[in-house]
Amino acid sequence: MEKAKYKKTNNDIETIEAKNVNNNLYEKIYKGNLYCEEDECMAEVIFYEKQKGGFRRLFKTKSGSNHLSGCRHEIIREGTRGKTVKLNGENVNVSPKHIDDTLNEAYKTFYKKVHNIEDATQNKSNKNHKKKSESSTVDNEKSINYVVNSGPTTNGEGILVEGKKEPYIYKREVADLKEKDDNSYREVHGILEDIRLYRDEAYIDIKGLDGSSMSVYIGTPFKSDYEQEFRLLENYKTHLQFQKENGNLVICNCVGEIIKMDKKRVVQVYSYRDIKLDNLGLLKVSNILTNIYN
Ligand SMILES: [Zn+2]
Repeated sequence: MEKAKYKKTNNDIETIEAKNVNNNLYEKIYKGNLYCEEDECMAEVIFYEKQKGGFRRLFKTKSGSNHLSGCRHEIIREGTRGKTVKLNGENVNVSPKHIDDTLNEAYKTFYKKVHNIEDATQNKSNKNHKKKSESSTVDNEKSINYVVNSGPTTNGEGILVEGKKEPYIYKREVADLKEKDDNSYREVHGILEDIRLYRDEAYIDIKGLDGSSMSVYIGTPFKSDYEQEFRLLENYKTHLQFQKENGNLVICNCVGEIIKMDKKRVVQVYSYRDIKLDNLGLLKVSNILTNIYN
């Protein structure tokens, strides 16, 4: 949404527009004091900057916050209310590039595993990657302590740490997901089985190499932020059919939040940028299909 109610320290309410807010103002003044734009509704909203598909400053419902029944921003879906992200320190938003790097890396490793290709470099690079996560770095200029072992978030609710080292995103094959991954952000990869598209949500079913299965869940946050891209998910389905007809496996990987829905573990993805098939993004696949069929 573009507008929100701002509750001042003297409890006066003022309507503000997202386009007049920036991250600095948000952190200093508005954070924790913003509510749904609708008259009676006091659902808490947060500020975020949409990066791709045209830069925009917007407000969106804080997760766990409920709109007044009947409010036009009411999120109608059971099962995920009040979810909290269990993490050490503050949640930190990660940049699209960091997510992209993580997806590429995981894809390459998993591709080799799927196709039984020896990876001589793997042991070496694993050693180099460890160790860094527990320490904290101090920004001397501002003496702000950034806790590096904060968990990453992709839903726009974390603190932005521009120019700082971004938190490591753990990578998991479907079969490797454990209880301790719940309510955290992970890269998840597997073999694509099926894509089920509904009016307001989508399930992307993936399988591990041992046959275990789970779903990538795409729901209201994704659809309301990226309506056009939500419709393009149809192209992922076409890609899968096309590859199946040719006897090819499709690798699916994504970065999202591990949550439980109907007692089943799913990974919820918040942006079209955070999920790929065969290391191809949604827009890329859509372009390829347009070229094939036109
Ligand atoms: Zn509302």
